[in-house]
Amino acid sequence: MELADAVRKQLRIHLSEAQREAFETYNRELISARQRASLTSLRDRESIERRHFLESLALVRAIEDAGALASPAIDIGSGGGFPGVPIKIVRPEIEMTLLEATEKKATFLRGLIATIGLAGIRVVQGRAEDVAHDPAEREAYALALARAVAPLPTLVELSLPFLRTGGVLAAPKGSGAAREVRAAENALRVCGGAVEGMKPLNVPPPGATPTLVLVRKIAQTPERYPRRSGMPAKRPL
Ligand code: SAH
Repeated sequence: MELADAVRKQLRIHLSEAQREAFETYNRELISARQRASLTSLRDRESIERRHFLESLALVRAIEDAGALASPAIDIGSGGGFPGVPIKIVRPEIEMTLLEATEKKATFLRGLIATIGLAGIRVVQGRAEDVAHDPAEREAYALALARAVAPLPTLVELSLPFLRTGGVLAAPKGSGAAREVRAAENALRVCGGAVEGMKPLNVPPPGATPTLVLVRKIAQTPERYPRRSGMPAKRPL
């Protein structure tokens, strides 16, 4: 099925001609840079549409239905731009920051934004552990997104410091979502978060259905978090 048809029928998201072109350009750029910047293991258009574009747009639908789509947003560990860039293409009113540790990937993302011609989106190169202590970035966002970056206990420490109180972390997770939520209990208490809900993402078969985990920031995160680079992953809270 054409991407635009699948998106319209399953997700009730209508792509304009310009938005379709933006996804075409994105697909081409990914394929031509994938090895140079280790952006994706996928080689062909259809797999990229399914795994990256449709999954990111299913996420938009679920976040929007939960009333949690908000601006400004930060995509933590954006890699090849997922889910931040597809969200920006379909919801251009959202101010988007893409945070990426690797210089090669950050460079790809800057080029991609210019090539597609997106405005109101920026790339910050650095690690969440460092950038979250920058006063301009700390508690600056209403929505944090992170796909395939870290298990939830680590992700909570990396992402909640970026959120204003009342903001939401939206993290798509695999079959272990419920287990990750249980394991994150302490990290949530320490960093000021509460799980608000879990819902299945509407992605086309085949493949397992991912689960969206929504975490609300209910209290300020103590200044010492996130701990220094590597610690949130090495010794999860
Ligand atoms: N979100 C993308 C990429 C997932 S791979 C997708 O779903 O396709 C994870 C990415 O997160 C990598 O590009 C890695 O460089 C980045 N990353 C991992 N830990 C990070 C950290 N602490 N701070 C910033 N970026 C990080």
